[in-house]
Amino acid sequence: MTAHPGGLTSSPWNGSLRAVTHHPSHSTLRRVAVVGGGPAGLAAAEMLAGRVEVHVFDAMPSLGRKFLLAGKSGLNITHAEDFERFLGRFGVARATLEPALRTFTPDAIRHWAEELGVETFIGSSGRVFPRGMKASPLLRAWLARLRDAGVHLHPRHRWQGWDAAGALAFKTPDGSIQFPAAATLLALGGASWPRLGSTGDWTALLAARGVEVHPLRPANCGFDIDWSEHFRQRFAGTPVKSVTLSIGDRRMRGDFVVTRHGIEGSAVYVLSNALRDAIAVHGHTTLVLDLAPDRDLAHLAASLARPRGKASLANHLRKVTGLTPVKIAMLREVLASDELGDPGTLAKRIKGLPLTLLRPRPIAEAISSAGGIALDELDKDFMLKRLPGVFAAGEMLDWEAPTGGYLLTACLATGRAAGAGALAWCTTHNLR
Ligand SMILES: Cc1cc2nc3c(=O)[nH]c(=O)nc-3n(C[C@H](O)[C@H](O)[C@H](O)COP(=O)(O)OP(=O)(O)OC[C@H]3O[C@@H](n4cnc5c(N)ncnc54)[C@H](O)[C@@H]3O)c2cc1C
Repeated sequence: MTAHPGGLTSSPWNGSLRAVTHHPSHSTLRRVAVVGGGPAGLAAAEMLAGRVEVHVFDAMPSLGRKFLLAGKSGLNITHAEDFERFLGRFGVARATLEPALRTFTPDAIRHWAEELGVETFIGSSGRVFPRGMKASPLLRAWLARLRDAGVHLHPRHRWQGWDAAGALAFKTPDGSIQFPAAATLLALGGASWPRLGSTGDWTALLAARGVEVHPLRPANCGFDIDWSEHFRQRFAGTPVKSVTLSIGDRRMRGDFVVTRHGIEGSAVYVLSNALRDAIAVHGHTTLVLDLAPDRDLAHLAASLARPRGKASLANHLRKVTGLTPVKIAMLREVLASDELGDPGTLAKRIKGLPLTLLRPRPIAEAISSAGGIALDELDKDFMLKRLPGVFAAGEMLDWEAPTGGYLLTACLATGRAAGAGALAWCTTHNLR
């Protein structure tokens, strides 16, 4: 390892990515490499543009692929709830993220999008979306503005670490190149949806430099349940609406979807960190469902005790409880026949049906990742304390948050904070 992976002692780059000479020059000292062209990296580039020479590298043929995917089902870019509540969504990571989030608030994000020609609106749940719901107009305008500001974009450059002289090493379709830089900003994302570019390969590169990196784990993810073949075939893809889900003292009212493997969807994602962590400790966990949250237990038991006559159990249940076929099938899937046959017990189970979750779905399917660079590896400017001149931002840091626009907000905010930090570093160390 060289003393200075930030590149202060490394050789300059003279304009052609393959040509490297060995005399530090003024232009090398002003040059900042942003590695990773997702929302965090682009936000960092925006802070640096026009002030230093900025180069953004990405492994993929085009930038911002996960950002574009996020826009497929409606780009939830931030959230308009009370800011104190908003900050609370980041749990133990709040202390580290708060200064960045206070500098680039949800209101500032809306203003930023509007400056890029994309008007936003607040949905009924407080979630904020672009009027057109998509990410592509925003990304197009953003990349154009960065290019106009002189930012150099280098797709198809896969970062491989540092060479012996401290220059960044990239693999490109034309071979390997080295890129010395005054400061480096890593924004390589987590490991969900790896086919869009974020593979998490960087974890080994940083761990080899002594940086503490916590294993990347699925966040905002689905879970496996051992459904019977009959239930799976009949109900995979069916929404289960208006239920209350709980684990321990955490409760969530909302909807989810039955899948071939188990369950997924917004209400499950909110509890997914608690469910995932409980499985890690116990090998499995129990998610408790209230299938009829608006009905009280005593009334439910009294309704179920009404004579059933010749009606099948399913028909009787539907008639007296109003439960949908998927909810009734779930009861039959989980309960023994004596529990189904006893109105008192059945009412209790409708109000508290235990579902055994076996494991989270693989990280490749998750919306986001938990784990990553331990937050105490960072200084207040998002610089890695062990690698002076190297900054990090976005999902590669060890924080997690539910869906609702919190992920993109924190990626944009930490990208900008790390960009400002890299600029201050250049100013202090190189340009005085
Ligand atoms: C289906 C889906 C829907 C989502 N919807 C929302 C939503 O509505 N709202 C919300 O807030 N969040 C949403 N998210 C999450 C959000 O998209 C991510 O949190 C965000 O994109 C992370 O930004 P990032 O810049 O940290 O990383 P990324 O967006 O993952 O970008 C990292 C970049 O680094 C590049 N890279 C990785 N390794 C290398 C390497 N070795 N060399 C060079 N380049 C490399 C990758 O190609 C990638 O372009 C969604 C995610 C998914 C999967």
